[in-house]
Amino acid sequence: MKASRFFISTLKEAPADAEIASHKLMMRAGMIKKLGAGIYTYMPLGLRVIRKVEAIVREEMNRAGALELTMPVIQPAELWQETGRFDKMGPELLRIKDRHERDFVVQPTSEEVVTDIARQELRSYKQLPVNFYQIQTKFRDERRPRFGLMRGREFIMKDAYSFDRDQVGAKASYQVMAQAYRRIFDRFGLRYRAVAADSGAIGGDLSEEFQVIAATGEDAIVYCPGSEYAANMEKAEARAPSGPRPAATQALAKTPTPDKSTCEDVAALLGLPLQRTVKSLVLATDEFSAAGEVVKTQVWLLLLRGDHDMNEVKVGKIPGLAGFRFATVAEIDAHFGCKPGYLGPLGLRQPVRLVADREVAVMADWVCGANVADHHFTGVNWGRDLPEPECVADIRNVVAGDASPDGHGVLAIERGIEVGHVFYLGTKYSKAMNATFLAEDGKPQLLEMGCYGIGVSRLPAAAIEQNHDERGIVWPDAIAPFTVVVCAIGLDRSAEVRAAAEKLYGELLATGVDAILDDRGERPGVMFADWELIGVPHRVVISDRGLKDGQLEYQHRRDAAATKVPVGDILAHVR
Ligand code: ATP
Ligand code: MG
Ligand code: MG
Ligand code: MG
Repeated sequence: MKASRFFISTLKEAPADAEIASHKLMMRAGMIKKLGAGIYTYMPLGLRVIRKVEAIVREEMNRAGALELTMPVIQPAELWQETGRFDKMGPELLRIKDRHERDFVVQPTSEEVVTDIARQELRSYKQLPVNFYQIQTKFRDERRPRFGLMRGREFIMKDAYSFDRDQVGAKASYQVMAQAYRRIFDRFGLRYRAVAADSGAIGGDLSEEFQVIAATGEDAIVYCPGSEYAANMEKAEARAPSGPRPAATQALAKTPTPDKSTCEDVAALLGLPLQRTVKSLVLATDEFSAAGEVVKTQVWLLLLRGDHDMNEVKVGKIPGLAGFRFATVAEIDAHFGCKPGYLGPLGLRQPVRLVADREVAVMADWVCGANVADHHFTGVNWGRDLPEPECVADIRNVVAGDASPDGHGVLAIERGIEVGHVFYLGTKYSKAMNATFLAEDGKPQLLEMGCYGIGVSRLPAAAIEQNHDERGIVWPDAIAPFTVVVCAIGLDRSAEVRAAAEKLYGELLATGVDAILDDRGERPGVMFADWELIGVPHRVVISDRGLKDGQLEYQHRRDAAATKVPVGDILAHVR
């Protein structure tokens, strides 16, 4: 590709509604364009990334023996009525009518349609096992579409469905997929964890989520550094002893100097009912005298709302302190003077609403922090003119430091982005839709199923959350829109530069390297800023000056500086 013929449209500023790095950077790099809430166009640059993600997914699904098909996006309601999901699913399911007033849905996933295919086509045990998959548009009318492609309403999912003759077969098919997913996520070049997830009404342990590790992730992952144990928070909580426990508070204030430092104390102080479902975190801030003595201690309550529809539990009405906003968990740690990651492992989501028990207008140059000697932070300034936060975080009943259920040490918690999910379904759908095959004994038997999703359009956003810096995106090679950019400096003036650039570009293409030649004639500063923002991992600079010494400049996107490389050696660097 030549940049002069490609569509490059970068922005200095991200739009105001972009809150997290991936959303901001995708907008600024011109990868996506917003059409409506949670609805985006994949611009040429963004589509290149999506296509690379799809290619890896497709290759590994095919390698695992799954068969690609494409099911309709618009599906008759009758099938969804058979399983009861037409009525049972909430407003996330988009229901539409055609000109004859017949009901349809826009696929949020496709168990009904694929089960309908299976009951017609899979008649004999001889045809089993089968795994059908598609890479296709989905629509979910999310309550809060946000973060760009991360939580869209229209998005691309790879969804696969396995059909087996019995449970043993279905579980084997599940394992084949779980292994294929590991290969897929390894190939993306991202740090991820496979975690046990709740398998809901079906029971059993056959549900895993694939979570890309990132501080801005919406999910909390509980894992044991000393063993294989890893689960999402829901699953971990399901195993944890129930009932109220002030563990979060204990973790923060091992030596509680203030007398009001537990959830229960603060709830009493504020006259609030405090139940297990009330997600809250109490922090104490100390005001110090010049001599270093604590002269005043305040109790702060972080109210954590998350997706649980808690209505701010009245505490939000306490005057004066609503509206403190923290962009990331790391910043919360910084504001409260905690060590990095101190609060994060408690499962906070961001942003967070901070509410206290008394009116404070502005606090300048405060000392604050958890009541642990080395967890204080000086010079903190909080103002009340900060924007209103939208969402409040979650504190869960499983906290860092709890014993691991497998007995191999204590638990740690980190944030993740769900990019994949594998799930054993059993006969949930085949039973509802009477999808049977003829078994060896000639009798009809229900198909055993599993379903397996990958968030194809979410994946690039997750990759960026994990890999970016102040200049822009840093793509892993496997999913970069281009692997190498050849920046030709002054090619309008220099026939030699042009010739060398064209030659190198041709050689890269010939050896199968996905290269783009920046032949736009832009100034180096502009050119470099664009490619650093876009995040192309390898950059080669060709200039008159370098060519005189027979050299080119090579720089990986993560390198601090360029290195000079003899013209003949450059291919070895970028492959
Ligand atoms: P989430 O918990 O994020 O809402 P989910 O559990 O509802 O996701 P699944 O039904 O498991 O999602 O769908 C399979 C995959 O599709 C998810 O693992 C995720 O990567 C992706 N996905 C789900 N919802 C969205 C969305 N609104 N936007 C982009 N990708 C999504
Ligand atoms: Mg969902
Ligand atoms: Mg989920
Ligand atoms: Mg899921």
